[in-house]
Amino acid sequence: MVLAELGGKLRSSLRKLTSSNNSEALTTEALNALLSEISRALIESDVNVQLVMKLRTNIQKKVGELVANHSSSGGGGGGGSSAAANVNINRMVQRAVVDELTAMLTPSSSGDNNNDNNTSKSSTVKAYNMKRGKPNIILFVGLQGAGKTTTIAKFAHYYQRRGYKTCMVCADTFRAGAFDQLKQNATKLRIPFYGSYTEADPVVIAEEGVERFVHDGYEVIIVDTSGRHRQEEALFDEMQEISAAVQPDNTIFVMDATQGQAVYDQALAFHSAVNVGSVIVTKLDGHAKGGGAISAVAATGSPIIFLGSGERFEDLDPFNAKSFVSKLLGFGDVRGLMEEMQSIREGQNQEELMEKMSRGVFTLRDMYQQFQSVMKLGPLDRVMGMIPGMPDYLVPQRGDDESTMRLRKFLYMMDSMNNAELDGKVDLHNKNDPTVEKRIRRIAAGSGVHPAEVKMLLQAHKQFESMVSKMGKSGMMSKGGQAKQ
Ligand code: GDP
Repeated sequence: MVLAELGGKLRSSLRKLTSSNNSEALTTEALNALLSEISRALIESDVNVQLVMKLRTNIQKKVGELVANHSSSGGGGGGGSSAAANVNINRMVQRAVVDELTAMLTPSSSGDNNNDNNTSKSSTVKAYNMKRGKPNIILFVGLQGAGKTTTIAKFAHYYQRRGYKTCMVCADTFRAGAFDQLKQNATKLRIPFYGSYTEADPVVIAEEGVERFVHDGYEVIIVDTSGRHRQEEALFDEMQEISAAVQPDNTIFVMDATQGQAVYDQALAFHSAVNVGSVIVTKLDGHAKGGGAISAVAATGSPIIFLGSGERFEDLDPFNAKSFVSKLLGFGDVRGLMEEMQSIREGQNQEELMEKMSRGVFTLRDMYQQFQSVMKLGPLDRVMGMIPGMPDYLVPQRGDDESTMRLRKFLYMMDSMNNAELDGKVDLHNKNDPTVEKRIRRIAAGSGVHPAEVKMLLQAHKQFESMVSKMGKSGMMSKGGQAKQ
């Protein structure tokens, strides 16, 4: 996925900054070099040039203020503590980058310099926070081929798994086979559907379908519309008529990330025809550069609520700008992971764990509990990438049973540990402790693996631990998911 390339470039630029531990204060040249690298990476990923320039100016301004404050409070410049002071400044630059990238992805704050990242929280809008016990009518619009029908199935699956009474209505009478496709997905998911082979008027179908499902007490009522017509004008007229008939609580525009910046015009056209409330970006798993779609979203002002990342029903990820940036920069997406776990009511002590992690504490037992929850969450490849510092060899590829086995083995090994080891009262990383080798052999024998595999587990834990500790210090784990100054 190309976004991963962008992430790699951004990470390496930031890493250069943190590894420069010379006692010189952050020079203008170093900052400019960093900003040029970041800008280049974003433009190569198809992010709109103007947006990138704005981001650059904002970071420059912010960092300038930070450095000025820092030197005036006596923190920078000469003196014995300048190395430590530089580490602080570097961290602040990192935060400014994270904050500005987040703001760029948060429509309501991307149009100005306001950097209130709480907007990313509120941008999870109505469609994401469905009302319980009441009908939520959700109208899907988008051009044919964007992935609308597939996304509708994923969307329905998402809410159905969370206990909402969910159903679908097919109001696409233009494309032959549209109703069959929706019906097929609905049947696989065991979700009720409504449509017609004989009625030619989509407005009538939409109205009847919605009426019936509202009457039957459905909570999430999804209406699919046509994505193509003989003339574009007719398509928009039809959408407006359907919208007027069903009075949706939210209209979701589905856009294909592989279309690059071309989706900008599409987004604008749909936005002016019907009141688009949210956006779902699809096909981010393929060769999509992603940046184009993201710029379009930023420009039209409708927040992204989900990202489509594959063809399976599970391949739909709730979008949170902060989590997205955090993942892009290699910090993992702990908050997203926790929210996901909580939303399916499996995480018991997540707040407690978050609090611990915000202090940089992460024991083997915490890792054990996370792995266990992860195993319950479904497709591993989707969830594992959200864990910070997750070594690549542990993130499974599609259908990769080997990684699932490795994760299971890790759980068996931790099952063979005693409480003191799990809770960090005995430090299994301490090479000077003569009992450690013996303990490793015992754990290996207890779980039926080679001691080298236990060492691999410990290495993975060490990576997690250091990542959590870095995140704790950076404030990325703080409540609301934003870095605090
Ligand atoms: P519609 O015409 O907008 O209803 O589009 P469809 O739902 O029929 O999707 C068009 C094609 O895109 C199908 O082959 C889907 O499997 C594929 N597709 C949809 N969403 C995604 C996605 O997130 N990732 C990938 N790789 N393919 C997708």
